[in-house]
Amino acid sequence: MAKRDYYEVLGVSKTAGDDEIKKAYRKLAMKYHPDRNPDNPEAEEKFKEAAEAYEILSDGEKRSMYDRMGHQAFEGGMGGGGGFGGGFSAEDIFSQFGDIFGGAFGGGGRGGQQRARRGSDLRYVMELTLEEAVKGVKKTITFTAPAPCDACDGKGSKNPNDVETCKTCHGAGQVRMQQGFFSVQQTCSTCRGQGKIIKNPCNKCHGSGVSDRQQTLEVTIPAGVDNGDRVRLSGKGEAIRDGQAGDLYVEVVVREHEIFQRDGADLYMDVPVSIADAALGKEIQIPTLDGRVSLKVPEGTQTGKLFRLRGKGVKPVRTSMTGDLLCRIVVETPVNLTARQRELLKELQDTMDGDDNKSSPKKKSFFDRLFD
Ligand SMILES: [Zn+2]
Ligand SMILES: [Zn+2]
Repeated sequence: MAKRDYYEVLGVSKTAGDDEIKKAYRKLAMKYHPDRNPDNPEAEEKFKEAAEAYEILSDGEKRSMYDRMGHQAFEGGMGGGGGFGGGFSAEDIFSQFGDIFGGAFGGGGRGGQQRARRGSDLRYVMELTLEEAVKGVKKTITFTAPAPCDACDGKGSKNPNDVETCKTCHGAGQVRMQQGFFSVQQTCSTCRGQGKIIKNPCNKCHGSGVSDRQQTLEVTIPAGVDNGDRVRLSGKGEAIRDGQAGDLYVEVVVREHEIFQRDGADLYMDVPVSIADAALGKEIQIPTLDGRVSLKVPEGTQTGKLFRLRGKGVKPVRTSMTGDLLCRIVVETPVNLTARQRELLKELQDTMDGDDNKSSPKKKSFFDRLFD
């Protein structure tokens, strides 16, 4: 697999000076930069090829080895210490050649001099009643999180002149080290990756630029949220010095309701009905989230029978269809009987025993099968 001549790659002559090489590389890198050529593997190849050529030709020692031995100088570790381990990742290239890009890519994304720093996202768990979740609610929350230090305005030092760009890494926060054949990137130990040195740190935040502060926010929870839904408050997460604050996610947990159980858009509930009402039929009053409605229990209703009240459920936050309320009938065996009730039930029992189980068809078929 033949490699192109490095001078040819950069389009410069063998006698080109350092400035000319740098300029040529900058032009190619800008042209083929992945940020400008998303999902273009050919551009990425060209970008890597140019980066590799520049790494060699911009280094006096490597360049003279290349001039004497060609590509061979850097293959299979034969180069006698001057080689580099082929495994160029795009990440390496971006950070290594950061100085050339300068501010060209605005510090954001991979092309910048320093990877954009961002605070962590924070999570706040908010407990809601079912009614609040279904109808939406405004709530005030109080929490403690890192916020810009008010003593130094988040700068880390009271006097802005006391903040200097790190001389070791020139503000990148990362340095490149040669280890055998490999060139590895490490966090700058002088500034601990900060890219800056603070000579006279703020005595409140000790130079971090942030301090924990109690914060109070009003959160609007939209109607129809359910367990696990999250509301994002942009920029209300962890603050950091010289970077963007993270986001705050308010996560919903809905408390169990004593009557209703929710399943997506539908609500379920058990409706207890007396033995007489279930047998004779009756219009009863049942609760919904919007007040009481009547439900007609027909004659002969059994336990487990489901009645569906359309549109009496929930309208979930992400859909426009309102669900239903499903009422499951539970026939209640009477207890704490008066003497009169006992007498009436005894009478009922006698007539039912004498009707060959016509009034209890399930019981009849059960015993018929049992004795067959
Ligand atoms: Zn540094
Ligand atoms: Zn401070």
